[in-house]
Amino acid sequence: MKTMTCRQLGGPCDLAHQGESADDVINAQDQHLKAMEKEGDAAHQPARNEMKKRWLRPRKALGWYNATKATFADLPQD
Ligand SMILES: [Zn+2]
Repeated sequence: MKTMTCRQLGGPCDLAHQGESADDVINAQDQHLKAMEKEGDAAHQPARNEMKKRWLRPRKALGWYNATKATFADLPQD
């Protein structure tokens, strides 16, 4: 298992997500951003908007995705 924080994934807080793969932590972050948006957390709104854009522009998002995967690969195991 590895740990990536909300901040490492482009968000504003230090909530830690754990996963076996980059996809795990990306999914966890997506859920986190959705939950924060529901609570009306303004600090997370820019990251949430970025996430929505990734779905609309998958080709552009590929750079972000690959960078996140590379960051995850470089992390030590927990
Ligand atoms: Zn957060």
